[in-house]
Amino acid sequence: MKISPNHPRFRSLETRERLVQGFQSGIVASQGLIAQGRGEAFDYMLGEVTPKSSRLATKAASALLLGAKSPVISINGNTAALVARDVVKLAHSVPAELEVNLFHRSLARERRIASLLKRNGADRVLGVDSKTKVRIRGVASPRRSVDAQGIGNADVVLIPLEDGDRAEALRKAGKAVIAIDLNPMSRTSLAATVTIVDNIIRAIPELLRITEKMKPLSRSRLGAIASSFDNEKNVARAMKDMIHYMQGWA
Ligand code: ATP
Repeated sequence: MKISPNHPRFRSLETRERLVQGFQSGIVASQGLIAQGRGEAFDYMLGEVTPKSSRLATKAASALLLGAKSPVISINGNTAALVARDVVKLAHSVPAELEVNLFHRSLARERRIASLLKRNGADRVLGVDSKTKVRIRGVASPRRSVDAQGIGNADVVLIPLEDGDRAEALRKAGKAVIAIDLNPMSRTSLAATVTIVDNIIRAIPELLRITEKMKPLSRSRLGAIASSFDNEKNVARAMKDMIHYMQGWA
């Protein structure tokens, strides 16, 4: 359905439409549509704008990515449907590997997502029909299986729209985890090293912009920015941002 740019809720409706199209073309899982609904509810509580707390988290996330030895961006169906182009640009900018990793896994969907990323400029996409799979301990879902050259070997993993189990398991495996999740109370948000509480459609372009800006910084400066970030405090700030916005309505 074509949505008029004059509609007051254009951005939100257009995002839904992209997910529905992604579902129809076999990129997005049906469960991904439900996950978006949960995200939208939290986005409403942020006033559908990037809060101050997310800006701090984005800076720490860029510092982690730029300071990493082997950074990887994990891609699921919703991420591919919503921000394929910018996530590929981010992978080039850092530079980082892209790895498809799905909760509701099928080879056909993995291939479709990889080909969408390639059409958007990706040179290499890991995680599809890989011969070098390793297992992440403590994950019950098919997400436990990762590429040995990608997430298996990564020191920093960006996991937009994740499930809490895998975020916790990746931390236990000694990796720094960057999450993008509109729900500050999710297990993912609480388990991550850095959580950006924001909508992925705003968070990825902003992460790209800040990463480009921080590229000239020295390794020691990047390390200092990343290590001074306190995720627990910042997630609490994100909740306060939501409460503050809602108090304006009460
Ligand atoms: P957890 O296991 O971490 O508690 P969950 O069971 O809530 O998470 P899912 O149902 O898989 O996880 O939902 C994924 C998460 O992604 C939800 O917390 C939801 O708020 C968030 N989310 C959905 N759409 C977006 C979006 N567009 N941008 C950012 N976050 C989103």
